[in-house]
Amino acid sequence: MAQSAISQHVAALKGVASQPTAAAVRPAVKPGYRLVPALVGRSTDPGTVAHVPCPDWCTVDHLAEKAVFLEDINHEGERAVMSLSPSRGDRVPVEVYLSQWPASNGEDGRPFLAVDVDYEVSNYSRPAALALADQLVAFAENVRRLAETLPADKPVRGEDV
Ligand SMILES: [Zn+2]
Repeated sequence: MAQSAISQHVAALKGVASQPTAAAVRPAVKPGYRLVPALVGRSTDPGTVAHVPCPDWCTVDHLAEKAVFLEDINHEGERAVMSLSPSRGDRVPVEVYLSQWPASNGEDGRPFLAVDVDYEVSNYSRPAALALADQLVAFAENVRRLAETLPADKPVRGEDV
């Protein structure tokens, strides 16, 4: 009797679509992003690992850099660095890198170019970043033009020339 009761239920379920497998329900990630593990929790907690979409250009190890909340996770790309004052030691006065705060209202959570001038960071959208690049190219051309007017270095004493 129990056997036929189960058979009735199985027959009734024939028209119901089966559940998708775990692989099929993996969250969709936008092109240019991948899912990466991120450690989230207070500094006193061991933390929880969550998987977050991370842009391909991001170089942050989100497991090593624990965020207190998911909303605190930010993405940063490789830094391009220029030193204009070698006399100030290791401090690098100018750095640029891609950055993104997905949960932030600023920049609508979209990536931007971070320009760090002596720890003062400004955010540049695409048009502003391209305008900055044009300015830097013009500046570099001026540096080269002036440099080429300088006399050549004298040979160092004692060196064979
Ligand atoms: Zn990232």
